[in-house]
Amino acid sequence: MTRERAALAAGSGIRKISAEAELSAEFYGARASTLCKLMAAGLPVPAGHALAVRAVREIATTGFPEDRPLSSLFSDGTLFSIRSSPVSRSWGGPETILNIGMNAEARARLAERVGAKQADALYCRFIRDYAVQVARLDVEDFEAASARLGNGGATPEMVDEFLDTYERQVEDAFPQDPEVQFREGLHSMILAWEGTSARILREARGAPPDAGLGLILQEMVLCRGPGSGGSGYVQYASPISGEDAAWGNFQPHAEGRPGRKPKENGRVLGNGSAASPFGTDGSDVLAATREHADVARRAFGEEMRLDFVLDDGSVWLLDAKPAERSARAAITIAARLVRDGLASREEALLSIDPLSLNEVMLSQVDPRAELDVFATGFAASPGAATGRIVFSAMAAQAMKSREEDCILLRVETSPEDIRGMHSASAILTEKGGMTSHAAVVARGLGVPCVTGAREISVDAKARTVTLPGGRVLNEGDTITVDGTGGRVVSGAPGLVEPELDGFFGEFMRWADEARTMGVRANADTLTEARVAMELGVDGIGLVRTEHMFFEPGRLTVMRELIFAESGAGRQAALNLLLPMQRGDFVELFRVMAGLPVCIRLLDPPLHEFLPRSRQAVQRLAEAMALPVSSLSARIEELSEFNPMLGLRGVRLGITVPEIYDMQARAIFEAAVIVAREAGVAVEPEIMVPLVSENREVEIVKSRVDAVAAAVRVETGFSFEYSLGVMVETPRAVLRAHDISRVAEFLSFGTNDLTQMTYGLSRDDAGRFMRDYVNLGVFREDPFQSLDAEGVGELLLLAIERGRRQRENLLLGLCGEHGGDPESVGFCHSAGFDYVSCSPYRTPVARLAAAQQALRDPDGARRRDGRAG
Ligand code: PEP
Ligand code: MG
Repeated sequence: MTRERAALAAGSGIRKISAEAELSAEFYGARASTLCKLMAAGLPVPAGHALAVRAVREIATTGFPEDRPLSSLFSDGTLFSIRSSPVSRSWGGPETILNIGMNAEARARLAERVGAKQADALYCRFIRDYAVQVARLDVEDFEAASARLGNGGATPEMVDEFLDTYERQVEDAFPQDPEVQFREGLHSMILAWEGTSARILREARGAPPDAGLGLILQEMVLCRGPGSGGSGYVQYASPISGEDAAWGNFQPHAEGRPGRKPKENGRVLGNGSAASPFGTDGSDVLAATREHADVARRAFGEEMRLDFVLDDGSVWLLDAKPAERSARAAITIAARLVRDGLASREEALLSIDPLSLNEVMLSQVDPRAELDVFATGFAASPGAATGRIVFSAMAAQAMKSREEDCILLRVETSPEDIRGMHSASAILTEKGGMTSHAAVVARGLGVPCVTGAREISVDAKARTVTLPGGRVLNEGDTITVDGTGGRVVSGAPGLVEPELDGFFGEFMRWADEARTMGVRANADTLTEARVAMELGVDGIGLVRTEHMFFEPGRLTVMRELIFAESGAGRQAALNLLLPMQRGDFVELFRVMAGLPVCIRLLDPPLHEFLPRSRQAVQRLAEAMALPVSSLSARIEELSEFNPMLGLRGVRLGITVPEIYDMQARAIFEAAVIVAREAGVAVEPEIMVPLVSENREVEIVKSRVDAVAAAVRVETGFSFEYSLGVMVETPRAVLRAHDISRVAEFLSFGTNDLTQMTYGLSRDDAGRFMRDYVNLGVFREDPFQSLDAEGVGELLLLAIERGRRQRENLLLGLCGEHGGDPESVGFCHSAGFDYVSCSPYRTPVARLAAAQQALRDPDGARRRDGRAG
């Protein structure tokens, strides 16, 4: 039993708040603990007592004990407040009750000190607050009386009116005994804490069912002296930028409810700002609080917001909590604390939520804006954008060419929409989930995206979208997509633009120094690769080569390849594609300047390249000089019942090997070109998708080796490459030891692996995923955050089997989970060499990897131990 627990068990559960008391948040709540710390730092805190969580629980269950030594607290006529002190601040708590002890006697005493008008006003306010908070009367009952209660004071008649109103409603006299007021106040706060809505609210914020509440009984500071007086809050860090600036709110002559005014009323003070939230010039408040804030900052190793009362120019602190901050401000504040020697880099890194980096890097909906949210869906790609609705890729391109921002709105997107997606400022789909086509592509492009907005109904033909309630929007109407919050908003509510100031770069450098696992980017285009390099990655972990074939000029050649009737026709199309692919890889290798680039051979089923609409079939028939009927027949022939489980990935590589041959040649020739011109070794990693059987890898490997040998001879240039497998099927996991005989690396495609493990279509899961998560069937969407218990087990199994076969097997993960902080943490601890995700998510992954390296240093040993 700790000393504190023993003292608590033996005592009354009431402790004086003092510099020596060191009350813990666990037993007395966070506020009690903070007040002790403030006093220990020598800061002025009004005298008070803390009622332990256990004591509050006892009162809630067995009622108020008669033997508690409470009466002594009220003996000298001092006024008190009762404040909540929950174990965690994030749970919220019942509202403070001020001025307990106010009665006719106290009113008379006060009148001598501050004048009758002020004393009467205080009494009136107390009667009203007590009536509303404790006796649970309607605030409207006091509306008429309150309207006459200005700042100037009150009259004895007004006091009578307040007392009458109270007594009429309650049918009892207003309690004059301070101890009765205290007990009743305490009860009302406990009831408020136990209430169903408060319970639901705090549980939604992560509180356990038995969340503990402590209470504080604290002397009032009446701030009625002749000098400056009032209450407020202040922090010396801008909540927007994190820079040193006074920010807060001050209400003259208010005794101690500093946080009551909405946050928007707080304005930055300084730089000659005319409208000071701290009074006409604010200098009194600033002079009085600045030093205290510095002391608190040092004592807590944190930028603090002080709740204070100013009485005749002297400051009393009522509370201190971590300063409010935006994501951007959080980084600046953390970096300033490190710079000032008040926190370590490790503490700074651990203090930032990795996902909040999205807010720093991308535009966001202005949090102050009033929003008309008409649909919600999956927050598939973060950031926010406003634009005019278009319903086709073509319309998006046309809008872009007029330099207008547009939002591409589709039931779902397909590879044919790629160019339109490039042109759109944001993407919204009625169907889909976290790994559907729109989501994956949008994340790659860094374009905000909401998928699975099922409340809307898109009619692409009529170019309208029907919103819940029947409202209809037309092409050209303006909406805003909030990809961070998964919301769709009508109109243009205003956006907050990203600002990557100096501290962001420095902070990310610290993260890179701390992390031990690599972070690569999934990048298919030159632009994506450039973004990835600018953000700072360790290489490319996945080039989805199929995206390179959707350029209009190439799509036709690809279709000619698919429909070629003879080997010669196929070769002719491949000869056209080869220089295009080679050019793609040359560009990528150049940008990546010797860093690893992992290229996946063609993966999707061929039908993804086929024309869909009648006009497109007609156009292709013309280009190929074929009758429409024979083209349609061929399309029919190629159609599969379940193409995602059909002729795709390595199966295509085995049955139509010329495609992989061409891709391998393009990769090697590009490697030679760039190695020659730049003088850096380019060692491509070639990845075989959708493997389920080792023989598949052997066959592909022998053909790729043959191409490599041919290119070495033709170019007279020696180069190295490695060949690995994309683990996406449960069978590849189970046979990882076989596969690793040939494969030099395994990269886990957890999008498909999740799909196949659950037997759950990644494109259709959006239909019920929200219900599943809300009902607690799934803890989280497994396409978003790695299912550690199931899919994660498979990863561990494959790692163990693969490494048993090949000690220095390189291990990566390239599914979308590579950008999810929890999943990144899993990968670090499992001993992965790297994770790979969309470029814009790589900073999130870098910070998550750094945090897990600090929490679990053994993760690095698990990885590095295998080689030595
Ligand atoms: C995967 O399946 O995890 C993957 C990265 O491949 P894709 O999303 O292209 O299927
Ligand atoms: Mg896949």
